[in-house]
Amino acid sequence: MCLYVSKVPNLFPLYESLNAHFGDLHWWPGESPFEVIVGAILTQNTAWRNVEIAIKKLKAKGLLHPEGLLTIRDDVLEELIRSSGYYRVKTRRLKSFVLYLHEEYDGSLERMFLEDFRHLREKLLRVKGVGEETADSILLYAGEKPIFVVDAYTRRILQRHGIICEDASYGEIQKLFMTHLPHSVPLYKQYHALLVNTGKTFCTKTPRCGGCPLNKEG
Ligand code: SF4
Repeated sequence: MCLYVSKVPNLFPLYESLNAHFGDLHWWPGESPFEVIVGAILTQNTAWRNVEIAIKKLKAKGLLHPEGLLTIRDDVLEELIRSSGYYRVKTRRLKSFVLYLHEEYDGSLERMFLEDFRHLREKLLRVKGVGEETADSILLYAGEKPIFVVDAYTRRILQRHGIICEDASYGEIQKLFMTHLPHSVPLYKQYHALLVNTGKTFCTKTPRCGGCPLNKEG
């Protein structure tokens, strides 16, 4: 199986170069853990600005809490989150999550996050529409649990720097970070945010290596 190149990856120098360039990014925005979770579900396959519009509408209607999303009619929710795209699918995903929260933890996120986070991860992955990236975003950003979030930008950057092979799995990439870095929530949050920013600014489909802080990182 093709995993990583044989050298030990330089994940710290990579981090330091990005951190020096972008500074502290304070990602993920959200006034509450529940808002972060809603954002994590709505941001699938869409730009964050579209999610912000939907969240703003939910807030304006006073619905951005588990009970609000549990009781609202599907068609009304669809309209409110329309800006985020795939709004029918995402309505079902939001409903599945709040139903799970209601049934398993009486609607309490505090209770949910008391679970061992690896066990909770397995349970979240069984909720319809929650994949690995969404589950890990929920655990890291809403639950403050030390788990690394892997996204498409992370994969692309590591691949272009010869750190991973093309067919490395999500779990293998995650393990790479979690094996070579301390299990720190602030570090994992900032590193993920830095990689996303690098992907958006420099490591686009056609890379803009001139000016990229990773230009000299092999
Ligand atoms: S833009 Fe170039 S230097 Fe920057 S991360 Fe991508 S491949 Fe590396």
